[in-house]
Amino acid sequence: MNITDDDSPNGARNAAFTPPGDGAGTERAGRGRKALLSSSMVGSTNRGRVLQALFDLGPTSRAELARLAGVNRTTISGIVQPLIDDQVLVESDPVPANPGGGKPARPLWFSPHARPICGVLLMPDAVHACVATLDGKIESERKIALPDGRGPVQPIIETIAQCVGDTLAKARRTPFGIGVGVGGMVDTDRGSIVTVNLAPSLDRYPLADDLGRRFGLPVKLDHHPRALLVGDRWFGAGRGVRQFAVVYTGEVLGGALYFDGHLYRGTAGAGGELGHTFVQLDGELCRCGRRGCWDTIATLSWLRREAARAALPEADLVDSARLVDMAARRLPGAAELLDRYARNVAVGIANLQQTVAPNIFILHGDVVLGGDRLLTAIADHVRAMVPSRPGGAIEFIAGDAGDRAALLGAAGLVISELLQLPI
Ligand SMILES: [Zn+2]
Repeated sequence: MNITDDDSPNGARNAAFTPPGDGAGTERAGRGRKALLSSSMVGSTNRGRVLQALFDLGPTSRAELARLAGVNRTTISGIVQPLIDDQVLVESDPVPANPGGGKPARPLWFSPHARPICGVLLMPDAVHACVATLDGKIESERKIALPDGRGPVQPIIETIAQCVGDTLAKARRTPFGIGVGVGGMVDTDRGSIVTVNLAPSLDRYPLADDLGRRFGLPVKLDHHPRALLVGDRWFGAGRGVRQFAVVYTGEVLGGALYFDGHLYRGTAGAGGELGHTFVQLDGELCRCGRRGCWDTIATLSWLRREAARAALPEADLVDSARLVDMAARRLPGAAELLDRYARNVAVGIANLQQTVAPNIFILHGDVVLGGDRLLTAIADHVRAMVPSRPGGAIEFIAGDAGDRAALLGAAGLVISELLQLPI
């Protein structure tokens, strides 16, 4: 952790030489020259870094934070005291430092009275909202099915607003903001939906503006796999890690990348369309209109079609859990299909590993239902496809098959915003 000293009365000395934030919009400044920060920005940057360190380390004392940042306790106290006064942080009861004496440590952690965060997961068929604490405990949630995604847009929007409104009504304090993970392409600069393949009525809808107006809160919109990544980064297996990727499988396929300490979004959030990277030139026709996308060979629709071809029972209901179960019961064709599915999922992961080498992959969605057997099969295929390199051990972690990680991640989008702003 780098803390920038802002004790000096001279503003010029207060410059922090690392741009804060998650990388979006700072690419130009980061290339060749670094933007200098104003005095007030130094304050918010330091607050952000202390909060970030707490997320990464868990409850930590002022002395330990000072030691890690290489600054004195006075500097740390100057940063954390306003956060304690604002009830964002709380200092717990003293725990003895060690038997030899020394001042008892009082670990700092997020206050249960801090304003919560609101997360919304918007998928083509349903909207799911939650209010969560800053350390990732869901306090209330609500899920409502959406009207037909090809019908008029207003009933869909009213249903989303009702779901969010009902959830906010149960919050004990006004949340810091609302984060929305969308199962479709989004323009993160404008806070609008670009396209939701299975609910075209939502295309180009300025959802962040609309929800912001209705609820009077800042609203942050992002792509569903990036919400998953944010969830893993703040509350899950990605905590404290510099580099990792998430891959989501199911009816759709997607992924996101945490790269050198930043969530990588690409220009206006257009990056991360992993499902539509090509794995076979002139391959099958994809729902995006192109051919040979990864999406055409590693989603549930591929799996169900192939299950029918292999004459497996109830092919239209097959998912990873059922497939692994059928393979365990030695149904003819099941083990072969399991291996082909694992290989098809692996090929996209191998391409990502070859391109940016995140080395840690957290898998979410349907494949998680396949348990250790499917995860191991995917990992084995990836390792066979990627040449081994020194320091190149690749780790696979099972994430969440349900909505929880994405909901918390959507709420976590608010934290990412919070870290860049004066509180
Ligand atoms: Zn495609």
